[in-house]
Amino acid sequence: MSVLDILTIPDKRLKHKSSDVRDFDEKLEKIVADMFDTLYASGNGIGLAAPQIGISKRIVVIDLKEEGKQNQIVLINPKIISTSDENSINQEGCLSIPGYYADVERSNEVRVEWSDVNGKKIKKKCSGLLSICIQHEIDHLDGILFIDYLSNLKRKRAFEKVKKYQKIQNEKIE
Ligand code: ZN
Repeated sequence: MSVLDILTIPDKRLKHKSSDVRDFDEKLEKIVADMFDTLYASGNGIGLAAPQIGISKRIVVIDLKEEGKQNQIVLINPKIISTSDENSINQEGCLSIPGYYADVERSNEVRVEWSDVNGKKIKKKCSGLLSICIQHEIDHLDGILFIDYLSNLKRKRAFEKVKKYQKIQNEKIE
């Protein structure tokens, strides 16, 4: 198992549309394990999509760590079947946009279909933080980032914040 580098904006690979997973094999299990390692190493992340580690496949891992306990959710080829009419606005961040947070409007509830790591199909109605997280991560699989929903001015600010954040991180290493 290993911790992988997380791509940050403006890396073009974050804007690619990912392709479906077809083989539910050991290679997939390894990618999923590495993604959880990478997610936990980030310290504050609750979800990670494969394109964020440079793999253009429809794989998402989530752990909301409710009540401080690990609760791993693996979504292979996830698809939103339906969304609730009610929306809410919540502050979002992203491991690929470190140091920047902004309000995003999303559906309160989503019905989602996906396969687990063994290829077993799962269908579930998700609400609350899980609903927001799933919508954010599925967007990654389609090359969409949460800053794409913001004004040009705010998006520009996000790029500046990330640059500044990385500069501070580099100085810490030196
Ligand atoms: Zn993200």
